[in-house]
Amino acid sequence: MKKTKNGCCFKGCNITSSKLLVYIDDGTNVYALCPLHLPFYLEKDEQYRDFLCPLNSTRVPIPCILSKEKHYTKYYTTYENGKKIDVSLCSHHLQNLLTHQLSSSEYRILKTQFGTFFDISDEFYDY
Ligand SMILES: [Zn+2]
Ligand SMILES: [Zn+2]
Repeated sequence: MKKTKNGCCFKGCNITSSKLLVYIDDGTNVYALCPLHLPFYLEKDEQYRDFLCPLNSTRVPIPCILSKEKHYTKYYTTYENGKKIDVSLCSHHLQNLLTHQLSSSEYRILKTQFGTFFDISDEFYDY
């Protein structure tokens, strides 16, 4: 079966709603992930790697918005009420965003620039 651009890239997952998906683009691969399968991307265990079937990236990485780190940055892209949120983050800050462990200053930088979106919502932060 051919993977469509809007579907979760986890093998066998049928979630295609862009409202639910988060896109991680490392400049080589694009991973579209639903909330259920996002943890598998973060999971370091190699056994899960085979389940992720990314698309090819066409983007050029830019420095992390929070630390200006230039190496191994990734784009985090999601849609909030039809608005595209597109953030460049280093591995460290991407991990902290996805696991909801940003510092209050990092949280505020993102909120000021992009407004509220799911991963920085009140559910996870009370800064
Ligand atoms: Zn999925
Ligand atoms: Zn960073």
